[in-house]
Parts: sequence; structure tokens; C-alpha cells
Amino acid sequence: MKLTKRITITLDEETLKWLDRKIENKTFHNYQHAIEKLLTEKIEETRFRHFNCYEDHVTIFDEVLNRLVNIYNKDGILSCDYHQRENCDHVRFAYTLKEIQKAVEEGKIKRLPFRF
Ligand SMILES: [Zn+2]
Repeated sequence: MKLTKRITITLDEETLKWLDRKIENKTFHNYQHAIEKLLTEKIEETRFRHFNCYEDHVTIFDEVLNRLVNIYNKDGILSCDYHQRENCDHVRFAYTLKEIQKAVEEGKIKRLPFRF
């Protein structure tokens, strides 16, 4: 079962008016949807940090998992050690790193045609 927790928050008048306008123009369904969507966007924005770059892998820190994750170059394909696959958010983030982009340009890593 998915863990949830009921919380109460207090918003200032201007924030509340802004939220009401966004709900009225259907940007958000309701307060809960607004808070969840805004938090998710913020978390995704700051979730990953590049930690280190090695010959055969890169290490990133995942704020949500609160741990380091290694992404290996396996015969030119990036693969996440945590998920044991090639199409997770860690791999997607790894492709944004300049070291990986350089390796793709040099042909050391293949740019996969997969979609996330
Ligand atoms: Zn992963």
C-alpha cells in the first residue's frame, strides 16, 4: 500500500489567490493536485547531482533515493546499476552530462533511440 500522510499547511493570501486562479483556469484540478505537481517539478529539477566521472562509469547522487547511483558504459550502452536497465531517469540524466555528451560525440557511447 502506498504510504500517504495527511498534512495541514497555511498559505498566505496572495499565494492562495494565485492558486485559486490556477484552479479556476484548469491548470490544477484542486489544491492537492497543485501542491503535488509543483513539488514533483521542484524535486525533479534538483533531484540529481553529478558526483564523479570514471573511465567506465559515472556516479550521480539521487536526492530522492538519498544515495549514489552508478551508470556504467557497457559496450557503448549506458546502464543504471541501481535499476539494472538502460532506460531510467538516472541514465537520462547521465546523457545530459558534458562528459557523456563528449563520449557520444567521440563514438565511445551510443546515443540510444529509446524514449523515456
Ligand atoms: Zn536508474
